[in-house]
Amino acid sequence: MARTPKSSAGEPPQKVVCNICGRMVTREELGVDLGCRHPGAPNICRICAHAILDTLATCQDPECMMHIQEIADRRESAQLPEEESAPSQASGAPLSWETLKTPREIYDYLSQYCYGQDQAKKTLSVAVFNHYKRVLHERLLPGDKKPEGGAQEVELIKSNVLMVGPTGSGKTLLAQALARFLQVPFAISDATTLTEAGYVGEDVENILLRLVQAADYDLSKAEVGIVYVDEIDKIARKTQNVSITRDVSGEGVQQALLKILENTVANIPPKGGRKHPEQEYLHLNTKNILFICGGAFVGLDKIVERRGGTRQLGFLSEAQKESAAPGTPAPAPMGEVEPEDLVQFGLIPEFVGRLPIVTTLKELSQEDLLHILTEPKNSLVRQYQELMRLSGVELVFTQDALETVAAIAHTKGTGARGLRAIMEKRMLDVMFDLPGGPVKDGAFQARCVIDAAVIRGEHPALLQSLEKPARRRRRS
Ligand code: ADP
Repeated sequence: MARTPKSSAGEPPQKVVCNICGRMVTREELGVDLGCRHPGAPNICRICAHAILDTLATCQDPECMMHIQEIADRRESAQLPEEESAPSQASGAPLSWETLKTPREIYDYLSQYCYGQDQAKKTLSVAVFNHYKRVLHERLLPGDKKPEGGAQEVELIKSNVLMVGPTGSGKTLLAQALARFLQVPFAISDATTLTEAGYVGEDVENILLRLVQAADYDLSKAEVGIVYVDEIDKIARKTQNVSITRDVSGEGVQQALLKILENTVANIPPKGGRKHPEQEYLHLNTKNILFICGGAFVGLDKIVERRGGTRQLGFLSEAQKESAAPGTPAPAPMGEVEPEDLVQFGLIPEFVGRLPIVTTLKELSQEDLLHILTEPKNSLVRQYQELMRLSGVELVFTQDALETVAAIAHTKGTGARGLRAIMEKRMLDVMFDLPGGPVKDGAFQARCVIDAAVIRGEHPALLQSLEKPARRRRRS
C-alpha cells in the first residue's frame, strides 16, 4: 500500500487518499489489500473495492479476465525476498556520484529478474545512468567537486524512454526492477485511464500524485523518481488527418502529457481526483523525473516495414503465427523504429520528441518461456517451491511439465503473463490441501510431483507423504 507519514501516539488516525474516488479514508476503511508492498501501490477504499470486485467477479470478458491476471502479476512482481525489496524508496540512499550505479551494474541487476531482452536492458541501463548523471551534473553548486574534465556549461537534455514490445514481454517488470535497484520512488500509471482536463477520467497530474505518495510526500525525492506509463500506444490518434472537431482518440491526452514529460512545475491535488480552483496544490518540478512509457504498438511493425526499415520484425502476423512450427524461436526484435514511424502510428511529433530513446522488446518464444519458468530470481517455479517448502512439501516439476506449461502459454499469445494463469489453475487443488504448520526439523513431510499430465489436467496433483508410518507396537 502507498505509504503515508506515520502518526504519533494520541493523534487522530492518519488518513490516506483512495486512488479511485479521491476520498480521505483511515487505514481501517481501506477495503482491499492487493498484497503489493511496493510504494505507489494504490489505496482503494471499501466502497470502491466492492464496486470493482462486484463488476469483475461477474465479467467473463477475456479482456477483464486478463486485467485481473495483470493485477495478480503486479502483485507477484512486488513480492520479493526481504533483502531485495527497497526498505522504503523514500528513505533510499541519497543520490550522489558515489552511489551512482553504472550501466553494467544496472544491467546485471535487471538480468536477475528479466530473462532475455538484452537490447532493452542495455538501453535502459545506459539511459538511466545518463539520466541520473545529468541530475547530479545540474546539482553541482559552486565549490562542489566536479567530475574530472567536466564542462558545466553543457546542458544535458533529459532523455525519457519508450519501450515497444508485445504484452507480457517484460516492460513493466523492467521498469519496476529498475526503480527498486536505484531506490528511487516509482509509480505506474495506465495511459488508458487518462483524459484531458474537463472530461471523465483521470487528470494526468494523478500520475505524479502516485509518485509523490510513493515518496511519502517528500517532494524532493519524488522529483528524482521514475514514472512508468503503460499502454501509451492506446492514446495514439486513430487517423493522421487533423480533425476539425474535438479529438477524442487520445491526442488531447498526449498534449496534456507533453507538459509533465518535460520541465514543468505541476500543480497536483494532494487528495487526487479532479482539480478545482479553490484547492491547494502540491508543486512538483518534473524536470528530473524519468518517464518510461511502454506499449505493444500493434501494427507498428508494418509501418516500419513499409518504410523499408527492417525485414526482421518483432511481431508476427496471424498468418505467420499459424505457419510457424511450435517451438520456433521468436523473431528478432523490431530494431529500427524511427520517430516518423511513431508519428505515422498516431503519436504527435512533439510527444515523440519527448521520448528520444526508443527500445524494443521481442515477443517471447516458447524456449524463452521455458527459461522464464525457472531462471529468474523470483521465477514462478521458485516461488511455488518456496510456498510449498514452508508447508513441509517438496515440490518437483518434471521437465515435460515445464515444457507443457511453456507450450500452452505460448499458444495463448500473452507472453510470460500466460504462465502464471496455467500454473495457478493446476496448483490450486494441491495448495488447497496443504498442511498449515511450519516444516518440522527442516525435513520435508511430503512430496508433490507435477508432470505433464497434471498440467494438461488429466489427473490432479497429489501429495505423497514422506513420513515413515509409525511402527506398530508389539503385543507383549
Ligand atoms: P508487459 O510487457 O505487458 O508490461 P510484464 O512486465 O507486466 O509485461 O510481465 C508480465 C509477467 O510476465 C510478469 O509476471 C513478469 O514477471 C513476467 N515476465 C514477462 N517478461 C519476462 C521476462 N523477459 N523475464 C522474466 N519474467 C518475465
